[in-house]
Amino acid sequence: MSVKEIPYKIYLEEDEMPKAWYNLRADMKNKPAPLLNPGTLKPMTREELDGVFCDELVKQELDDTTAYFEIPQEIRDFYKMYRPSPLVRAYCLEKKLDTPAKIYYKFEGNNTSGSHKLNSAIAQAYYAKQQGLKGVTTETGAGQWGTALSMACAYLGLDCKVYMVKVSYEQKPFRREVMRTYGASVTPSPSMETEVGRKILAEHPGTTGSLGCAISEAVEVATKSEGYRYVLGSVLNQVLLHQSIIGLETKAALDKYGVKPDIIIGCAGGGSNLGGLIAPFMGEKLRGEADYRIIAVEPASCPSLTRGKFAYDFCDTGMVCPLAKMYTLGSGFIPAPNHAGGLRYHGMSSTLSQLYADGLMEATSVVQTEVFKAAEEFARIEGILPAPESSHAIRVAIDEAMKCKETGEEKTIVFGLTGTGYFDMVAYEKFHDGKMTDYIPTDEELQKSFANLPKVE
Ligand SMILES: *Cc1c(COP(=O)(O)O)cnc(C)c1O
Repeated sequence: MSVKEIPYKIYLEEDEMPKAWYNLRADMKNKPAPLLNPGTLKPMTREELDGVFCDELVKQELDDTTAYFEIPQEIRDFYKMYRPSPLVRAYCLEKKLDTPAKIYYKFEGNNTSGSHKLNSAIAQAYYAKQQGLKGVTTETGAGQWGTALSMACAYLGLDCKVYMVKVSYEQKPFRREVMRTYGASVTPSPSMETEVGRKILAEHPGTTGSLGCAISEAVEVATKSEGYRYVLGSVLNQVLLHQSIIGLETKAALDKYGVKPDIIIGCAGGGSNLGGLIAPFMGEKLRGEADYRIIAVEPASCPSLTRGKFAYDFCDTGMVCPLAKMYTLGSGFIPAPNHAGGLRYHGMSSTLSQLYADGLMEATSVVQTEVFKAAEEFARIEGILPAPESSHAIRVAIDEAMKCKETGEEKTIVFGLTGTGYFDMVAYEKFHDGKMTDYIPTDEELQKSFANLPKVE
């Protein structure tokens, strides 16, 4: 089939679906730095991590050399309910922009959780079940991860306790009810239920919470309750591994039609969708087989890659989790309250951080009013109402396509459309009413936060 005959939506046949996840770290010369024990500052051992995470997931977390992990049949069966996800050629958007660029997006919003997070949620719940655990605990910010995990736990018959960032708990009651529909218990964080929650509330009365606080609470509950482990929806190596399904499908579909992307773009919160989308492409780049421009897009109000420090830091506010070497704004950093676009985590996956430090990918930041402009333009022309997070990638995809218009270059752009925005209508409302403002933290604010980075090395 010639490139001209590419259908609007490219699906893979069942026998073309990936049967293994790809572990990008196996091809990295400079491996991501190990997690450190917050007490001893020594690399976390398997035994130490086993107390927090499921055994099989710890193995995946620590494995820097195995390139492929077979996807268990039960997980593949679950994936079949909503995968392969469509790879869409954005013909209408290209026409509207009048650009010679070819734009594709991989759409991960075709499931009830409304995002890519279900790809890792089902894997993590599966391994917890295999280990004979009673349940899992986690945090959720905007609610997509909590929803995805609730769905996976309901499917496998596991208990699910979600600590939800208080501001989202209050602003997104519908998300909360979706999680409860799937049988999860949802607690606003910081709460009075945990030691770390009480401590944070004593120090910052009236705080609306942060992902870092919610993580601390969920970890505390997991380590103190028998038969429970903690699971995390982003940042960790194991999550990037599971999310490689996005990139593997994308690559298989593009290969099927002989399309080679020039630019690959993804939004970056903790880095899981981007890490998954780029995995097989970055693998080729690392092995010297092909070259791609890879762009991470983050909010200007939470700019960990573009303005953070590459240093060991706590993954949570309560400083109970292992330390990770990553681009970070400091574990105490909380984005300004007017920030509505998601992607509010203070750090970035250590795998992506290392790739960025090694100059293998680019990063850029965008302000939220520009993000919502792109979201609206996309919704009107491509029919999908995008999540604000995903719209960071849309913004930069449109900008790159407009550059092609100026230069006349026919570049092929692929971006990750990570999810839908139906539960983000309060943010859309602010944008429509002209009440959305942009906030970019000052250097002084960031310096203040960097001052609290742990002293390692
Ligand atoms: C959680 C989420 C993100 C950001 O998380 P990453 O781990 O950086 O991928 C992006 N888009 C949507 C829709 C999400 O739910």
